[in-house]
Amino acid sequence: MTEKLIWFNGELIPADQAKVSVFDHGLLYGDGVFEGIRIYQAKVFKLRTHLKRLYDGAAIIDLPIPYSIDELFEATRRTVVANGLESGYIRLVVTRGVGTLGLNPYLCDQPTVFIIADGIQLYPQEYYEYGLKIITAKTRRNHPQAMHPAVKSMNYLNNIFAKVEAIKAEVLEAIMLNQDDNVAECTGDNLFMVKDGQLITPPLSAGILPGITRSLVLELAAKQSIPAAERDFKIEQLYAADECFLTGSAAEVVPVTVIDSKTIGEGQPGPITQRLYDAYHTLVSNDPPED
Ligand code: PMP
Repeated sequence: MTEKLIWFNGELIPADQAKVSVFDHGLLYGDGVFEGIRIYQAKVFKLRTHLKRLYDGAAIIDLPIPYSIDELFEATRRTVVANGLESGYIRLVVTRGVGTLGLNPYLCDQPTVFIIADGIQLYPQEYYEYGLKIITAKTRRNHPQAMHPAVKSMNYLNNIFAKVEAIKAEVLEAIMLNQDDNVAECTGDNLFMVKDGQLITPPLSAGILPGITRSLVLELAAKQSIPAAERDFKIEQLYAADECFLTGSAAEVVPVTVIDSKTIGEGQPGPITQRLYDAYHTLVSNDPPED
């Protein structure tokens, strides 16, 4: 097996040499941003879109990334080629860098930037065939005025609290409501429902991460003339949905058939979920765009 190589501050180095300082504010304070990206057919799926979200999030937290988007685009491609990956997962991380023990981010000298390209742990196929069981977490999604939801920050404790609730309930995902009791998203996925033939997903104003798979699914729905709306809804409206599914770079499009022990629709993946799942798979299996 070839040695795993990590792109670390401009160089490809062996994984066992890729080390971050204990004074890095990414570690001390979760101060930084990251992306999780898929590799299909040796292409980095939607790489430019992920980089745009990374740079936007970094701009919101006033973290200047010391490379251009084009440079990180090339660096990511190089990392995939160097590791000989046809399919897999990329973790691209930009931390505030090494600083003092105080909070002040402006005392950190240089952001730490690294790119890991590795295999991926997928949900077992049975969940795509029969659907996931999920719960509603008691943990609310971060208030958008406390933590901007468009920042995919290195501090995932909010989501981890909800994930712990899911694990304790012996399910794989948990729905997080927002401060207004509306459905926001899951711990690592966006959420859609289908009611009377219409696709409905919470708007960005619900305090969700602007998911790249979510946007793509909305585009695929438009191409197939499936009516869609971004609209707030309550958990009770979701219980009464005909279909429900989650989207994310790792999960892709995964049906949900049980929420809080209540069966959704017919209790099996519905026809609109199936169409969007198929459209997504056709795209990533044929010519996955890197833009
Ligand atoms: N919401 C959260 C909280 C996430 O962590 C993720 C995964 N990055 C998503 C939604 C899905 O986003 P994407 O489709 O861009 O992977």
